[in-house]
Amino acid sequence: MYNKPANFIDDQKVWDTLENHQTTDSTQIREILSKAREMKGLDMDDVAALTCISDPELLGELFNTANQVKETIYGKRLVLFAPLYISNLCSNECLYCAFRATNKDIVRNALTQEQIAHEVDILIKKGHKRILLVAGESYPKEGFQYVLDSVRTIYGVKSEHGEIRRVNVNVAPLSEEEFKLLKAEGIGTYQIFQETYHRETYKKVHLGGKKRDYNWRIWSLHRAMKAGIDDVGIGVLFGLFDYRFEILAMMQHIHELEAEFGVGPHTVSVPRLEPATGSNLAAHPPFPVSDIDFRKIVAILRLAVPYTGIIMSTRETAQMRRETFALGVSQISAGSRTNPGGYEHEEDEDDPSGQFSLGDHRPLDEVIRDVASMGYIPSFCTACYRMGRTGQDFMDLAKPGDIKLHCAPNALSSFKEYLQNFASSETQVIGNRLINETIAGMDGLSRQRAEKLVQRVEAGRDDVYC
Ligand code: SAM
Ligand code: SF4
Repeated sequence: MYNKPANFIDDQKVWDTLENHQTTDSTQIREILSKAREMKGLDMDDVAALTCISDPELLGELFNTANQVKETIYGKRLVLFAPLYISNLCSNECLYCAFRATNKDIVRNALTQEQIAHEVDILIKKGHKRILLVAGESYPKEGFQYVLDSVRTIYGVKSEHGEIRRVNVNVAPLSEEEFKLLKAEGIGTYQIFQETYHRETYKKVHLGGKKRDYNWRIWSLHRAMKAGIDDVGIGVLFGLFDYRFEILAMMQHIHELEAEFGVGPHTVSVPRLEPATGSNLAAHPPFPVSDIDFRKIVAILRLAVPYTGIIMSTRETAQMRRETFALGVSQISAGSRTNPGGYEHEEDEDDPSGQFSLGDHRPLDEVIRDVASMGYIPSFCTACYRMGRTGQDFMDLAKPGDIKLHCAPNALSSFKEYLQNFASSETQVIGNRLINETIAGMDGLSRQRAEKLVQRVEAGRDDVYC
């Protein structure tokens, strides 16, 4: 089951929709933007029309609309996480990736459980609470058990002021049985990027190993959901093919998950192809996405799937990341390393054994300070997942905007916890001011909750949430 041809990705329909909705008509675009403000999402026709915007005035309106929708649903929150690369062993031959099997230019390494625990300890001491576990598609002798052991190791590391409270996972597609085992370890989101939905391109850039099988990969989120993992994340590696095709095909994937399971993906990632050691393709993306188109992609996705988190990694520069917060990004990584053992050897800022080069090298404290100076509240909250508010339950809560009653207070208390336990004095000043100003601007139940939670953290309690 779930390895048959994926008919729900219908290339012809994507091309027809793009062809039939080419427009420069400002009235039509404005109608779509006004529909988007209702926050019920957009259909493929609307999305195709929005990709045509090039007029600076309309582009400005698209960006403003995305900002309004983002602030209505998410407020000023930005969730923080760190990737943890446990291994760069890989049996696949993805032409864009430094970890591909035949690349002799990197040092191969799979961390032992002790080394993983050490990396986690470093991340906890910086203030992280969420980890995204990442690995190539080949495991040491323990096989898939290696991933399960690693999740358990991560949750098992305790430090004076904290622990990792949510482990999300980005590893190669699994069987339903393996997904069940992963779920039993208490993971948060399982994420996997299709890379490109365009079958011909997929074949051209994946030359060897199991990843060559487009169908095995595209059905993986069905298998994950069937196995009970109800928070799943999707993504496209932008730069491999025409971004307009990719967004529309990704919409088809989202609609398919919604139709089958009643709930779409929890997150969408928007990685852009970055240079990678030993990869000619990564150095010369076949369909480079310009900065302006990249901003457009984020804004369109925010309007198309308003309740889905959008993740922005440190592949992008600090400046690009800043700009996309206002366009709909709701989760960011910070202080990342993409080579196994990278947190222990932080001095090697751009280790050639990393998966790709990073655009933002700033440490967590600096990112937090920057984000807070822009008025965004860095959130380390993991409450929803721990209270069982996942999948359909999360969406039910999120849709009427009720999530604000939980998320806004929880973001503030988790930020306060960070400031007290881990921040530099400079960041504390900026952060505490932001917390006070934010609470002053709140009212009703969310203000009461926020005040109470923050006071509890001030009194020395960690990990308080509602
Ligand atoms: N190995 C697994 C896989 O391929 O699905 C999981 C982890 S892989 C290390 C995570 C993601 O990194 C890939 O899905 C791909 O989108 C992204 N990636 C690979 N090479 C990249 C590059 N040169 N620039 C940006 N992102 C890249
Ligand atoms: Fe391996 Fe994933 Fe890199 Fe492909 S993208 S070479 S599967 S680590």
